[in-house]
Amino acid sequence: MLSINLINTYRIPQTFEYYRPRSLREALELLNAIENAKVIAGGTDLVVDLKYRRVTPRALVDVSGLSELKFVKAGDSYVEIGSATTIQELAENGAVRRYLPLLAEAAELFGSWQIRNLATIGGNLCNASPAADTAPPLLAHDAELELASLSGSRVVPLAKFFAGPKKTVLERGEILRSVRVPVHRRRAGWSFIKVARTSFDLAKVSVAVLLSLDGNTVADVRIALGSVAPTPVRARTAEKHITGASFEEAVALAPELVAREIAPIDDVRSTARYRLEVAKTVVRDAMRRAYERFFRVGVEV
Ligand SMILES: Cc1cc2nc3c(=O)[nH]c(=O)nc-3n(C[C@H](O)[C@H](O)[C@H](O)COP(=O)(O)OP(=O)(O)OC[C@H]3O[C@@H](n4cnc5c(N)ncnc54)[C@H](O)[C@@H]3O)c2cc1C
Repeated sequence: MLSINLINTYRIPQTFEYYRPRSLREALELLNAIENAKVIAGGTDLVVDLKYRRVTPRALVDVSGLSELKFVKAGDSYVEIGSATTIQELAENGAVRRYLPLLAEAAELFGSWQIRNLATIGGNLCNASPAADTAPPLLAHDAELELASLSGSRVVPLAKFFAGPKKTVLERGEILRSVRVPVHRRRAGWSFIKVARTSFDLAKVSVAVLLSLDGNTVADVRIALGSVAPTPVRARTAEKHITGASFEEAVALAPELVAREIAPIDDVRSTARYRLEVAKTVVRDAMRRAYERFFRVGVEV
């Protein structure tokens, strides 16, 4: 009993200043003015890190209430999502469900109801976990991120945003403003499959597939995976190899080709060997499900 109390006492967070800005500009000014300030959105990753003292910021700048960061806009050629949009909002949003059902599917499989209502798309990407559920669908869609700072903004492809586990190219003073997803209006089938210990848990392996066919020939395919490398990844060599093949040929070749492009590790959730074998099976299953959906309910993505 005593040891439990000691552990709990140790995990009480250190003190920090807390700011709730009323605009993105004010949030950027705070980040710039305070040395060692950190953005907080839903807090579902950051508060855990604070409790274990993996991070010790002097101040938290809370962006979760900024209407400038909470929106979904569907334009002619893209869907833009504000970074403070919650995962539950993604799962329910009409434009996301219509144009980005792959992302909506990942949002539905994300954590619990309570987590989905706090967790944001921006926090999921900026936390840069290899297991982040929104990352494989967004990589498959070639999403871009708009990073805002006091000196303006820059656009970074999501594929170049992750720099390693828990590392991104975000610079001091920058806030992720929005995620932009191009929409090509090409008919596609989709599938996001997540393998986890329980439905509330982080992925041991996740796979996102977007598939377009011309008759029975693969016209365009995107395969992205989570939890099998230091960052979420696209299997681009496999994609190139199977484009132009018949679907049956593609689905037979893809698992082994994808396996050459991933580098799973042993950790608390799984072993490297399990991840490698399961990734191959899940790639096959996700391709088959995307194929079926292409013909049954294909959407224009
Ligand atoms: C019980 C539980 C279950 C979970 N299940 C899942 C799951 O199934 N799938 C999954 O992918 N994740 C899961 N997570 C992890 C977490 O919920 C997600 O990663 C979530 O999306 C993080 O978003 P947040 O808004 O809470 O981020 P926060 O915790 O607020 O922030 C995370 C990081 O991002 C930075 N940040 C946040 N917003 C911005 C911004 N706009 N600009 C710059 N930096 C920013 C913060 O400084 C911090 O470093 C789970 C967590 C818990 C506790």
